[in-house]
Amino acid sequence: MGTLPERERLSRRVKELAREVGFDLVGISPVIPPPHGESFAEWLRRGFGGEMAYLERGRAARLHPGGFLPWAKSIVSVALNYHAPLHREDAPQDGLRGWISRYAWGDDYHEIMEDDLEKLLARIRAEMGESVEGRAYVDTGPVLERDFSSLAGVGWIGKNTTIIHPRRGSWFFLGELFLSVDLESDRPIRDRCGGCDLCIRACPTGALVGPYVLDSRRCISYLTIELKGSMPRDMRPLVGDHIFGCDICQDVCPYNAKARPSSEERFWPREGQYAPDLIPLLTLTEEEFRRRFKGSAIRRAKRRGLLRNVAVALGNLRRAEAVPALTQALLEDPDPLVRGHAAWALGQIGGGAAREGLERASAQETVPEVREEIGLALDEIGRQQSADSGQQ
Ligand code: SF4
Repeated sequence: MGTLPERERLSRRVKELAREVGFDLVGISPVIPPPHGESFAEWLRRGFGGEMAYLERGRAARLHPGGFLPWAKSIVSVALNYHAPLHREDAPQDGLRGWISRYAWGDDYHEIMEDDLEKLLARIRAEMGESVEGRAYVDTGPVLERDFSSLAGVGWIGKNTTIIHPRRGSWFFLGELFLSVDLESDRPIRDRCGGCDLCIRACPTGALVGPYVLDSRRCISYLTIELKGSMPRDMRPLVGDHIFGCDICQDVCPYNAKARPSSEERFWPREGQYAPDLIPLLTLTEEEFRRRFKGSAIRRAKRRGLLRNVAVALGNLRRAEAVPALTQALLEDPDPLVRGHAAWALGQIGGGAAREGLERASAQETVPEVREEIGLALDEIGRQQSADSGQQ
């Protein structure tokens, strides 16, 4: 066998080093405008990014990655498996349980991935010279990471908009290392979604408005994490018991049926983060929230966002045992966002105790938005009672 050309040899070595550092998948692409840049710009124009203003701010950089890192010649795309093979059926049966997206069960991936990418850069510099420039991104920079992952052959972009590997599925965190070294690029792999549309049909909010097109404003991940204010009322019943993110479009994907478990124990569920008991979450103080979710991606929702989601989930579960905790939140929580969603949840559960709590709150509440929620919830209970008496 002849010797490999230098460029190819370096590429192979970089990929070997990435695997040695612990990444499950790796591929290389050139620094070019991302192939779906135009679709991304159109997606933003159609308002599908919702309130994620940072996407608009970084638009130009996303479309021209060579512009903000002029020295960069190659992009190493890596993927790290976070799959902990637990399912809804495995959840504890006691209490009222909510669902947290799998990616947030363990430690926050940003730090773990960034550290690993820095380790990779250090290994590359040790072998190829300290003058090698590099810059790591994990979800944070203006990089269309799925575009570069697919360009590098890590997987294809599925109709559910995640990167899917044909044998390993899609439970992966993605990251990129921009390098000043000119490396041989990998080839993209072909789209294997074919005639399947399971993810589109399974999405309870209809967020996949077509193959490969996600309207974030309807996506449960967006509604429970990125959206900072009140959750649109028409969306609340569709969110179900999700309190942070959603896995439905990946759970139904046939390519995840044989996904291997992650060997990174830090991504396995922390105490209380897998299908957590909802009622204790509703009384978390700011300090308790910070302590409980230290080093977890859940901090992104902040206390007010998480408790808003917990109230919505309890409203959707419609169980009378949640009424005392929701009433307490409605009367005492310092945040009007939480009080307003607790009122909505009481309206969904209904019954005399919920109505009594709403009436007590109505006598003391001063914030107009919360007063409006209380009024609508009382109307809802009134409607339920008339329907019940009509049936008798
Ligand atoms: S569920 Fe089907 S259509 Fe959706 S991403 Fe998976 S293979 Fe593609």
